[in-house]
Amino acid sequence: MTSVIRAAAGRVPPRARRWVRRVVDPVLAPIGSVNGARTDDPVLGLTFDDGPDPISTPVVLEALARHRARATFFVLADRAEEHPQAVRAVVAAGHEIGLHGPDHRRLPSVPDPESWLADGVRRLEAVAGVPVRRFRPPFGSQTLGTYRAARRSGLQVVVWAADVADWIDDPAAMVRLGLERARPGAVMLLHDAYAPDPAAPEPGPVLDRAGVLDALLPGWIERGYSLESVEGLLRGRRPSTTAWFRP
Ligand SMILES: [Zn+2]
Repeated sequence: MTSVIRAAAGRVPPRARRWVRRVVDPVLAPIGSVNGARTDDPVLGLTFDDGPDPISTPVVLEALARHRARATFFVLADRAEEHPQAVRAVVAAGHEIGLHGPDHRRLPSVPDPESWLADGVRRLEAVAGVPVRRFRPPFGSQTLGTYRAARRSGLQVVVWAADVADWIDDPAAMVRLGLERARPGAVMLLHDAYAPDPAAPEPGPVLDRAGVLDALLPGWIERGYSLESVEGLLRGRRPSTTAWFRP
């Protein structure tokens, strides 16, 4: 079934793909990854991947504090051990900590995904001092096997409904995309740091994260959105899930 979806996704245009997902997602809900909440409430789940970073994570935390926004940070355990203060600052500010992996490898390329995830959870919880219950696969890369490994590890897989594309080198375009792509209940993908693909490392973009967030967060708030972590978004709301399998 999943290979059928993957094959179809490669051929069909985005509108048709969305239609296919609307039909197929309810059937595949038991193997669905969370991409938001089922709600008409104007609320977004903000997520920041690839940190912590000793310089850029505090910049993001300050911007979130200025606009009274909450978020989930999907953290790499290797980096968490290198920069424990940055992780503790995230927790102290009332944000949620999730796992992005021990490192930034694509999970389908990891020989034993379940041990890899267990190692990441154990090391991240030791630094953060809070339970870790959610997982964002690096690059959104997931097979049915890695999805099941995450579920067996007690982790809820969180993907995204909208990508703010904060890896492109154009702050104005990021703000425009972030505002256009917001929908009630959507999980939004952002980054508080840059982590390369270990299989094909490239230098990351140099971004004015404070500048982007100081435009984006008030833009969402002006449109009536409250800005939550995934935990906050799902409190009292049913998750919306999608059959998400990609290489
Ligand atoms: Zn990542």
